[in-house]
Amino acid sequence: MSQQPRIYLSSPHMSGKEQSYINDAFETNWIAPLGPNVDGFEREIATYTGVADAAAVSSGTAAIHLALRLLDVQAGDTVFCSSLTFVASANPIVYEGAVPVFIDSEPETWNMSPDALERALQDAEVLPKAVIVVNLYGQSAKMDEIMAICDRYGVPVIEDAAESLGAEYKGKKSGSFGKFNVFSFNGNKIITTSGGGMLVSNDEEALRKARFLATQARDPAPHYQHSELGYNYRMSNILAGVGRAQLEVLDERVNARRAVFDRYVKAFGNVEGFDFMPELEGFKHNRWLTTLTIDREKVGFTPMELIDTLSAENIEARPVWKPLHLQPLFEGAKYYTHAEGNSVSDELFENGVCLPSGSNMTVEQQQRVIHFIGEMLKKKSLQV
Ligand SMILES: *Cc1c(COP(=O)(O)O)cnc(C)c1O
Repeated sequence: MSQQPRIYLSSPHMSGKEQSYINDAFETNWIAPLGPNVDGFEREIATYTGVADAAAVSSGTAAIHLALRLLDVQAGDTVFCSSLTFVASANPIVYEGAVPVFIDSEPETWNMSPDALERALQDAEVLPKAVIVVNLYGQSAKMDEIMAICDRYGVPVIEDAAESLGAEYKGKKSGSFGKFNVFSFNGNKIITTSGGGMLVSNDEEALRKARFLATQARDPAPHYQHSELGYNYRMSNILAGVGRAQLEVLDERVNARRAVFDRYVKAFGNVEGFDFMPELEGFKHNRWLTTLTIDREKVGFTPMELIDTLSAENIEARPVWKPLHLQPLFEGAKYYTHAEGNSVSDELFENGVCLPSGSNMTVEQQQRVIHFIGEMLKKKSLQV
């Protein structure tokens, strides 16, 4: 085992200012899942994303669940969802007893294919109650196309922007296009509260309802009275303080992650068989994770061989998300590919790798990663 300290894919990166917000919470005894930091964090996220209102909750998953409740998703309804994503995008569909239908990616953004979405909607006997569009690895989906299709069918969009806070699409912040938009502040995200999430929307009435549902749906009465099923989903005032300090440095974090990406591209941009996740004209990727696909014929090793080699050097790398239509949990779910007989998400899963991308990774650490990948590439060129 290597003696070098471990290099992580994406680890929490504190700014140093978190403690003062936490101290405020302690000094004023606002230790509850409400308080000035929660209100402040909500306001600041709404302002940052350019949306009317935001509700701080205990996780991104909780925010997706609340969005589905607000859209009245019920048992037996269908909800469309990107297939190439983390399981949390789709789990809340199942919490409500609804049925997920998975939509493939397209190759230019790795995100939801407008073509596949259109076919799925044409094919639907009953329209879905919502479409959950994921902005993978920090890049927006093709929102103009997707919104136009969903508007035509009158189906509301939930943007799962858990990974894309700070990214932009045509000059607007990612996570501001859907009827509801979701951010996550889990420990591995671009900014973190250790655990937390945010539900964002221009519909302030709906967000009032979200806060109500997130605090056990307590009716306005002096005794504890409940007419609806609620949850304990609110964010603690202490964690919201961490989030406020993190949000102050978000743009720096985006720049740092983009610089990490640029250094990988500088090292390997010309390698035939390495294709980095593209960034289209008019898109601003936050490069939460640097991802690429590997052509095993051209470079002489597989993504798993690369991951294992780095792992032996105490460096964490990972395959791309396993698409949800391939997950045992969702066996039998309907799935619409980008084109007939061409599943883009399957290919991205087979060939994709995520490299260490933390904003707190030093240049020296990244040089180590680059060095070991370079060694693997050298072996191949010696063989030919
Ligand atoms: C992290 C993540 C979530 C879930 O967020 P949590 O805060 O961990 O519940 C949802 N969707 C995507 C795409 C994510 O990466």
